[in-house]
Amino acid sequence: MLKKPLRNERLSEPVFWVIVDGSNVFQTLSGDLPFFCIDKGQIAKHALHLGELKGQAVYSIDRFRVTELPLEQGEWINLKLLIQSLDSATFELVSKAVTFSHFYQTHRFCGRCGSRMRTIHWEVAKHCDKCRHRCYPRLSPCVIVSIRHQEQILLVQSKQTKRENNKMYSAIAGFIEPGETAEQAVEREVLEEVGLKINNIRYIKSQSWPFPHNLMLGFTADFASGDIVLDNNELIDAAWFSLDQLPELPGEYAIASQLIAETIKQCKAPL
Ligand SMILES: [Zn+2]
Repeated sequence: MLKKPLRNERLSEPVFWVIVDGSNVFQTLSGDLPFFCIDKGQIAKHALHLGELKGQAVYSIDRFRVTELPLEQGEWINLKLLIQSLDSATFELVSKAVTFSHFYQTHRFCGRCGSRMRTIHWEVAKHCDKCRHRCYPRLSPCVIVSIRHQEQILLVQSKQTKRENNKMYSAIAGFIEPGETAEQAVEREVLEEVGLKINNIRYIKSQSWPFPHNLMLGFTADFASGDIVLDNNELIDAAWFSLDQLPELPGEYAIASQLIAETIKQCKAPL
């Protein structure tokens, strides 16, 4: 069960606000979350308590509920940029706010009977009074794996990077399917996307990836057998790279970068 959202409070003290508009969040011109007081019962009723930052409470609220926002004192920044600029504690709160907002926006009607759903105020949930179906914010688990073969690393270029007009290479990633373990998903994704068999699958770490609600489970693995056969639906290139000829890679904020760094460390270690 998710933490009690602390709605219906009158927020008479200034607090940090994560003000959400889709995938964008309002930041002050100095790059901080806005810090002010909303003591207006109707607005405060919709605020969600996210946690604490610098000893102060942090709440989230949707943009359309805030009528007197000092727009000239800040700007709207997309979550994909915020992950690169915010410290991890602040980004965790911001990503939680965006995920909750996405949940409320996409669960206004019941997926079972089509009736309007009611917001539950003591937990983060939507409830259908007609058929008693209740929904909670969804997390979609994904695996991501960096693969080593002797002193080379396998890197792939996805169709998405081409759409975003960059030349970045990264690790192989995909959603865990119902009934699978994370390790089975790693093996399947690698076989599907590049036609290779792997072994020595090792869990390294995880990362919340709120685009819009993924949880990335990061692994490394070793090449076992096969030749690269590209899945043209997902990828535009896949190749083995020597450490002195690495292509453009993801920024350090991304778990892909941390897994690739781990693989590079393994490549350099004596066999
Ligand atoms: Zn229903």
